[in-house]
Amino acid sequence: MDEKGWIGQAPSCYSGPMQQYTFCCTLCGECCSGSMKVFVNSHDLYKMGRFLKFSHSEELFKKGYVKMEEGQNGLTLPRLRFKKKPFPFCPFLMNDLGEDGVLRGRCSLHLKHKPLVCRLAPLHRELNLDTGEEAFDFILPHPGCPGKAGEGIICVEEERRVLGPELDFERRYYALLSRKADNPAFLWHFPLTGNFEETLKSWEENS
Ligand code: SF4
Ligand code: SF4
Repeated sequence: MDEKGWIGQAPSCYSGPMQQYTFCCTLCGECCSGSMKVFVNSHDLYKMGRFLKFSHSEELFKKGYVKMEEGQNGLTLPRLRFKKKPFPFCPFLMNDLGEDGVLRGRCSLHLKHKPLVCRLAPLHRELNLDTGEEAFDFILPHPGCPGKAGEGIICVEEERRVLGPELDFERRYYALLSRKADNPAFLWHFPLTGNFEETLKSWEENS
């Protein structure tokens, strides 16, 4: 968090109700491989772990899906641990050769189990914990991303409506992280058998 309370960079864009962009992912897979760094929050761990039928988030670390690494603002955070061979790529990326002979990179996670940052891309959320403000920038997930030439429309308000609960989880996650900066491990190591909202509430009550 910077001195003005923003998680990440303070936003440069307008975030009004008609904010929308043309974009359509071609499934080239570039943003799921190489040197990309995908940091995940508690709810992402919950979603991925449940998808894999794990009963504790610890299994994501032990089985090599996630590792801790220094991320934004100097915090050590969980990120997806990319496989190294034959080239670096996300453990959830699956290549698929279509009948048209084109190789496509597909995420093996169902849409509702994807990390929020992947689900939002190419939108990038900026959040100010002090004021509650949020804004969305359009940032290509990879410099060579061909999605910008697509004909789809991404509407910020619609994404905010659909992803409202998850965006709220992320805001509360960062609030807990900033309050418990000295000992935040409970945010990443927890049972997956319960309801996430209740788990989050119990953390808030105890912090
Ligand atoms: S780089 Fe762009 S087009 Fe390629 S998979 Fe990522 S979002 Fe889709
Ligand atoms: S979780 Fe899915 S969308 Fe996100 S980097 Fe991995 S393969 Fe790509």
